[in-house]
Amino acid sequence: MPWIDKEKCAGCGICLDICPAGAIQMHEQVAAIDDNMCVRCGKCHDVCPVEAVRHDGERLPMMLRDNRDYVIRLLGYCDGEDEREKLLERLTRHFRLQQKTAQITIDWIASEKNALAETAL
Ligand code: SF4
Ligand code: SF4
Repeated sequence: MPWIDKEKCAGCGICLDICPAGAIQMHEQVAAIDDNMCVRCGKCHDVCPVEAVRHDGERLPMMLRDNRDYVIRLLGYCDGEDEREKLLERLTRHFRLQQKTAQITIDWIASEKNALAETAL
């Protein structure tokens, strides 16, 4: 999912005009992408004159930080070591499920790639 570096955005509005999904809004002269509306076409990335629209991979450090913050926040609700250990086991299962879901989806795309690319939905 593309994302916009707020520090770089010049507020020109070019990406808003090109977005086919209406997924970009301007807040106080800074563009923001609604992840739920974005259809991942990449057009905003191609037209931004200041390279403020960034790729998914660059978001990895932020995603890791969010996950760590999430784990630490939930640990704050535990009462004692036993509860913390049980929570960590549940969170491990939670992230393993995400990992498994992503891997199965990746495998499905790989196995059906040609058929999916040829299909007009
Ligand atoms: S095109 Fe780039 S600089 Fe212009 S509003 Fe969009 S993200 Fe900001
Ligand atoms: S990737 Fe496409 S749909 Fe998503 S915000 Fe950019 S222009 Fe809009």
